[in-house]
Amino acid sequence: MRIVKYPHPTLRHKSKPLRRVDAELKQVVAEMLEWMYRDRGIGLAANQVDLPYRLFVMNIESDPAAKDQEFVFINPVISRRTGSVEGEEGCLSLPEIFAPVRRSEKIVLSAYNLRGEEVNLELSGLFARVAQHEYDHLDGVLFIDRLSASSQLAVKQALSDLEAEFHGDRNRGQIPNDQQIAARLAELEALRT
Ligand code: ZN
Repeated sequence: MRIVKYPHPTLRHKSKPLRRVDAELKQVVAEMLEWMYRDRGIGLAANQVDLPYRLFVMNIESDPAAKDQEFVFINPVISRRTGSVEGEEGCLSLPEIFAPVRRSEKIVLSAYNLRGEEVNLELSGLFARVAQHEYDHLDGVLFIDRLSASSQLAVKQALSDLEAEFHGDRNRGQIPNDQQIAARLAELEALRT
């Protein structure tokens, strides 16, 4: 497992719900949490580790010791969005890019946890922002898609640099071609979604 960077095609994949929680999925989640903490992130979606699952992990303290802040959301659904607030965001798949994004102020998030239990949470503040950012990933949406025109202009060069890096890695054979990536995602989807 590794974190894929923009413009990796899996980041644009719209994922389907998972069918079950089993030992294999628990292992995936454990590895995702490791990667999130390693890169000092506060959230990580399955797309970002090249997996086509509706699943994300979060810890807004980015501290593995703060277990009460560690959350796993499987097949999440956001309902009851209220208010609107702007705040700075970044993303482990878009390193060193930060920009303000407008999000709902409060949301209700329903999902399954790793025990297969349904959870319903009313979220606000940073927790609500991160959950909306991660939820977007599952639909193939990135925070750079939600920027104002002036912020888009401000990050343009940094995005071009990431694109050049991606194509360089691909030319060196470090990243499979689009068809190979799509075939692997379809295979994983057939198994688990
Ligand atoms: Zn992200």
